[in-house]
Amino acid sequence: MHDFAIIGGGIVGLSVGMHLTERFPDARILLIEKEDHFAAHQTGHNSGVIHSGIYYKPGSFKAKFAVEGLKLMYDFCQRQNITHENCGKIIVATDEHELPQLDNLLQRGLANGLAVTKIGPEQIKEIEPHCNGIAGIRVTTTGIADYKGVAATYARIINERGGELKLGVRVTGIEEHEGGSPLVQTTAGDFPAKFVINCAGLHCDRIARLAGASSQAVFHLKQAMGGGKTHLLVGFGLLQNLMERAGHCHGGLWPFHGRVNTVFDPALLGR
Ligand SMILES: Cc1cc2nc3c(=O)[nH]c(=O)nc-3n(C[C@H](O)[C@H](O)[C@H](O)COP(=O)(O)OP(=O)(O)OC[C@H]3O[C@@H](n4cnc5c(N)ncnc54)[C@H](O)[C@@H]3O)c2cc1C
Repeated sequence: MHDFAIIGGGIVGLSVGMHLTERFPDARILLIEKEDHFAAHQTGHNSGVIHSGIYYKPGSFKAKFAVEGLKLMYDFCQRQNITHENCGKIIVATDEHELPQLDNLLQRGLANGLAVTKIGPEQIKEIEPHCNGIAGIRVTTTGIADYKGVAATYARIINERGGELKLGVRVTGIEEHEGGSPLVQTTAGDFPAKFVINCAGLHCDRIARLAGASSQAVFHLKQAMGGGKTHLLVGFGLLQNLMERAGHCHGGLWPFHGRVNTVFDPALLGR
């Protein structure tokens, strides 16, 4: 019997697996991924941003984790030789109505302990000649990372520490085993485990249902994940790729509430 069975080989499942192998070196760990490679879904198709934490409410876990996590991610990428850049970014307001929102963000950034500064239209043009804005904020800590590389490194570390990784295996059911412990049913057989950890990304509600969660519980889970916004996010990703290919921006572009724009700042890298 495994001590922990993790469902999902995205960045969350792999990170959980890696940390479990560190905290419980003797535990038997199993990670199950339905695709034939890791990071096959959100993790391998995101914008690669190491977020600064500027958008999050001061004092919230999100703000705290973003600020701490950013340092940990840079450090991990550095140590493991994973491609990354601390390129920074600018956030710009394009009309006067957006100025209070921009100021709000500046105050949030300061309250979260970030090195944020206000910039004017000339500085915006200097940094991103194709970007029009009447005012902006410069955030130096934001960066980009190769998250596929991060996921592959987590998988290698789990493997080196004796964890078992199963690719191309889909979880199809979760039943109760003898003695009340869970039994994970998959396309490659059944796996009893003491604990099952659901890291199935956008399918985590399906996994929760397989384990007998009520519709009400699944609804709350989806809300907590920000469910329903995914199509919008995919749209933003496509917009960024098109802008980059057309040579309209040097770094990345990220709409905020659909209006205030974020542009990564290669000038901070001295390029
Ligand atoms: C367009 C877009 C851009 C984003 N940009 C950024 C960004 O720049 N920076 C940032 O920090 N975050 C970004 N995010 C968010 C980030 O990518 C996600 O929060 C993160 O990747 C979620 O990881 P995950 O492991 O939970 O999910 P996933 O990476 O989706 O992994 C879940 C895994 O579970 C597996 N699975 C599902 N069901 C089963 C089953 N029944 N059996 C076995 N395996 C199963 C799936 O195959 C999948 O591989 C972005 C998201 C999107 C959509």
